[in-house]
Amino acid sequence: MKTVLITGGAGFLGSHLCEFLLDKGFRVLCMDNLITGKESNIENLKENKNFKFINHNVSEHINVEEDLDYIMHFASPASPIDYQKIPIQTLKVGSLGTHNTLGLALAKKAIYMIASTSEVYGDPQVNPQPESYWGNVNPVGPRGCYDEAKRFSEALVTAYHNIHKVDTRIVRIFNTYGPRMRKDDGRAVPNFLTQALNNEPITVYGDGKQTRSFCYVSDLIEGIYRLLMSNINDPVNIGNPEEYTLIEFAEKIKELTQAKSEITFKELPVDDPLIRCPDITKAKKELGWEPKFGLEEGLKNTIEFFKKS
Ligand code: NAD
Ligand code: UDP
Repeated sequence: MKTVLITGGAGFLGSHLCEFLLDKGFRVLCMDNLITGKESNIENLKENKNFKFINHNVSEHINVEEDLDYIMHFASPASPIDYQKIPIQTLKVGSLGTHNTLGLALAKKAIYMIASTSEVYGDPQVNPQPESYWGNVNPVGPRGCYDEAKRFSEALVTAYHNIHKVDTRIVRIFNTYGPRMRKDDGRAVPNFLTQALNNEPITVYGDGKQTRSFCYVSDLIEGIYRLLMSNINDPVNIGNPEEYTLIEFAEKIKELTQAKSEITFKELPVDDPLIRCPDITKAKKELGWEPKFGLEEGLKNTIEFFKKS
């Protein structure tokens, strides 16, 4: 049986990863300090004898007695309102946390994956974004704490690969949604769904012509797993290339929830990227992966979750 350490395992994506890898027959150590995650996300996993929860801040030294085959460093606030509230912890988990987990991977001879992000491309000047694009990031803007932490993470992971020969993977995750997103995390999907289900105004920021592409969580997890099992050390984009303006997205949510909500416009946050869409040519070619869930199907599952919680 292979053992995997998942940092940030009590978060939205981390909890889906824990569940997926337990189902694949892994022993899963989930390490999280619950700063943006919730123990309820992993409550149903706790009865599994192959699952262990460790409450620990990974920006501090990490001690794990057991052998580890894989380390997946997913700990980091991810929503703009979260990381702007705790920018120093965000920079620390992307730098010190990445350093600690890489050191652990070196000591345990474990395969290492970092959860990077489309934010490394900043407000992109090419669309869609291939992995070869270097990005357009403002280091001192409100998103700098997150974007630069992830860019530093990628550089450190690359250095550990080149110097210490750690077998590394870099996944650049694009906007992902699905069950277990926090209703109050401030991102477009939970905001719009909560507003629509309460027939309240749907708040679109700016003129709503900025674009995003939304990937359903189970598609993302499958892509991550294929990358983990591959031998690709360079970054790989995983996301859904169907691109929507935020107005189109709000209209789609209104239609699916049959909401009576009106769409209202609020100020666009500083440095909010105006376009974002993954070029997934590499994932298709080298991992044989592409998303299966269309927006409607994914949103219907997410709406069910939001109605119940
Ligand atoms: P999340 O906030 O739900 O999960 C992050 C988890 O990390 C939380 O459980 C939190 O408590 C934990 N954490 C944060 N700092 C920690 C620390 N110092 N020590 C231990 N645990 C800590 O966010 P998410 O959406 O699940 O994102 C998970 C990862 O994926 C992040 O690294 C994020 O940058 C990346 N990512 C997510 C998306 C997305 O669309 N959700 C997009 C791009 C990248
Ligand atoms: N957004 C919006 N209304 C909201 C929340 C977000 O119009 O209530 C916009 C936000 O300005 C951005 C897009 O939705 O252009 C996606 O934002 P999110 O916070 O989900 O993720 P990001 O891609 O910016 O990290």
